[in-house]
Amino acid sequence: MSIIIEIQDLHKSFGDIEVLKGIDFTVNKGEVVSIIGSSGSGKSTLLRCINTLETFESGDVKIEGTSIKEMNPIDLHTRVGIVFQSFNLFGHLTVLENCVVAQRKVLKKSREEAEQIALELLEKVGMDSFKDAVPEQLSGGQKQRVAIARALAMNPEVLLFDEPTSALDPEMVGEVLEVMKNLATEGLTMLVVTHEMDFARSVSNKVVFMDGGVIVEEGEPEQIFLHPQHNRTKEFLSRVR
Ligand code: ADP
Ligand code: MG
Repeated sequence: MSIIIEIQDLHKSFGDIEVLKGIDFTVNKGEVVSIIGSSGSGKSTLLRCINTLETFESGDVKIEGTSIKEMNPIDLHTRVGIVFQSFNLFGHLTVLENCVVAQRKVLKKSREEAEQIALELLEKVGMDSFKDAVPEQLSGGQKQRVAIARALAMNPEVLLFDEPTSALDPEMVGEVLEVMKNLATEGLTMLVVTHEMDFARSVSNKVVFMDGGVIVEEGEPEQIFLHPQHNRTKEFLSRVR
């Protein structure tokens, strides 16, 4: 199996406070890896380090063997997409244009080709009939589905998700998880920070439990959810279930 993301002894501090205390793990091609853990354990910071939205003091992050320190940012952001809790759509652009703009500017695609790809992806997430809408006309679940289509438009090798359903009203969580489940089935490599334990358990190949800036435990979903080895994992799972 080929490795897409490799994290080696990653340390990250904010001021005097070390929030990542030596993180090591890998994401293989085609895998879905879920990261679970309490608020403040460093999950978002970890994703942000992978995508160079944060710097780190020591250790390394490699994408297909190349350190992100040696990659140009545009290349990195093309290969590693990210979907945030808060959608971050361009509010002044239509749904279609949200999915076209980076294809034009970064990938230098023709308008025709970029629009065709955008429409295919909007169809995949069930949002093609909203192509001319602007974000403020959409529900949270619809916005997040557009954000996923926009991220896919760069044809990334891996997509990072930072609690993609946490800002949604409960009735909209399912439609976003359904889209993510379909992407997993199609073989997209995904690294997902989530509080949705059913998703982590049923869709992931691997679950990583973080607490206090370290990985306490990682393994197959059955292992983590049915036979957790560490007390911290057991306590966390008993709180969220
Ligand atoms: P999680 O996503 O698991 O909830 P975060 O990665 O957001 O955790 O945060 C980990 C720790 O780092 C928390 O204690 C948080 O307060 C701190 N932190 C996160 N971002 C910053 C920042 N920009 N400046 C200072 N401290 C931060
Ligand atoms: Mg977070």
